[in-house]
Amino acid sequence: MNATISDNIKMIQQRIEKACQSSGRDPQEVTLLLATKTVTAERIKIALQAGQTLIAENKVQELKEKYEDLKGIPHRNHFIGHLQTNKIKEILKYNVSCVHSVDRFDLAQKLHQRLTADNKTIDILIQVNTSNEESKYGADPDQVIDLVRQIAPLNSLHIKGLMTIGLLSAEAEQVRRCFQLLKQIQQQIIMLDIPNVSMQELSMGMSGDLEIAIAEGATIVRVGTAIFGQRNTPDSYYWNENLI
Ligand SMILES: *Cc1c(COP(=O)(O)O)cnc(C)c1O
Repeated sequence: MNATISDNIKMIQQRIEKACQSSGRDPQEVTLLLATKTVTAERIKIALQAGQTLIAENKVQELKEKYEDLKGIPHRNHFIGHLQTNKIKEILKYNVSCVHSVDRFDLAQKLHQRLTADNKTIDILIQVNTSNEESKYGADPDQVIDLVRQIAPLNSLHIKGLMTIGLLSAEAEQVRRCFQLLKQIQQQIIMLDIPNVSMQELSMGMSGDLEIAIAEGATIVRVGTAIFGQRNTPDSYYWNENLI
């Protein structure tokens, strides 16, 4: 089991390196994030001990359950799941340095209020629904620029880029279009040069499509299954509870 997790990490690193080579990118530009939903703290520890430093949960409840067990091992926590406004206070207890899933103004506003009260700041990415699937959270591609303009003045939130979940199990070219759309939106926003907004990060690509995402400019790939194995809980549970 232990060998498997570290072997899997090596395999993913090789996939990342190869994808970078094919598209003339420096592997240093791509950060591996471990998506740890449903994975026990014990197994996450194995990955951290193998040298990984960035993990992310989808649910505040899981973040909370594993927090104490992992606290002693140096690492960073991101958050990649749908965030309900009533969980904001809770999530800020667990040292999350970046929320990838900000997709609406009211969430940003409430995060900002709480952070301001606590005298803290946080990095955020704007999640975009590039696949147009109802089952995915994320801002409408047409509304992202307005959303970024609205959020930019909230000075406890540092916008660092965009995140998307590509179309699942479809043809590579359709998946690629999702990532290209995210890149296009990123480029449009860069041109606007909005104060307090940086757009260096593109969080896209998972176990099944990280090569395509890297070819299209991903700077963070989020990998779960290919490192920790199949999950028993369907992703719909994490991506949109309303549709189960
Ligand atoms: C689960 C999850 C991932 C990882 O997906 P795998 O296919 O298991 O690699 C990436 N991003 C988000 C938002 C997730 O919920």
